Amino acid sequence: MAPVPRLEIRNLTRRFDGRAVVDDLSLTIMPGQVTCLLGPSGCGKSTTLRMIAGVEMQDAGEIWVDGTLVCDTVFRVPAERRRIGLMFQDFALFPHLSVAENVAFGLAGPAAEKRARVETMLDRVSLRRFIDAWPHELSGGEQQRVALARALAPDPRIMLMDEPFSGLDNRLRDEIRDTTLSILKEAGTAVLLVTHEPDEAMRMADDIALMRQGRIVQQGAPYNIYNAPKDKQTVSFFSDIN
Ligand code: ADP
Ligand code: MG
Repeated sequence: MAPVPRLEIRNLTRRFDGRAVVDDLSLTIMPGQVTCLLGPSGCGKSTTLRMIAGVEMQDAGEIWVDGTLVCDTVFRVPAERRRIGLMFQDFALFPHLSVAENVAFGLAGPAAEKRARVETMLDRVSLRRFIDAWPHELSGGEQQRVALARALAPDPRIMLMDEPFSGLDNRLRDEIRDTTLSILKEAGTAVLLVTHEPDEAMRMADDIALMRQGRIVQQGAPYNIYNAPKDKQTVSFFSDIN
């Protein structure tokens, strides 16, 4: 039997003012795989992610998770029941909650179970010692790791990340990309990472879906795309990699 994709998008379309900003887009992600949706600003990446998350409705197309229909134009599983984790650029920690309370935020169940889960998650990001600290007592990189622990705590089936590193300064960014990737790989979560930076996609993705004007124009392993770009626009888009 063929393996079931973790996430499958079929012919997804979203129009604003009659213009298709996501245009008949199809994409498959297998369990444990990191896929980058890579494309210039305005090509429809965030809109795609919002539809998968369930906070924006498509005009056409279907979203499937683990072989089950989650959303088409008639039927719709609510966002909070999709078991999809989110990390956005401005997805900061709640400053008035402790590290433990932040990580426990999306969890349900008895307090002791929640505490155990928080400890496990903080171990996973190597920050257990900060369990009773406040966000402002942590460095930017540590805060980012706590945010990752929080997003992974409910054991999401898919993690959606929308330019999660773009608010970080260059010095920190590479390091945080690497730790984030190893934590995600260890968790085995399927990831859809949105970025407009080719070097980020090259560094993090198992699979790159190159997007332009609402459509995927090329898809494949990072080095295949880098070495065999389909057209001139792709060449120039990649040319600022060093
Ligand atoms: P990206 O994340 O790739 O930068 P977006 O998905 O945010 O792109 O936006 C794609 C296009 O859709 C842009 O031209 C944007 O202006 C437009 N758009 C996004 N959301 C709305 C909206 N709510 N109303 C009208 N246009 C929108
Ligand atoms: Mg965006």
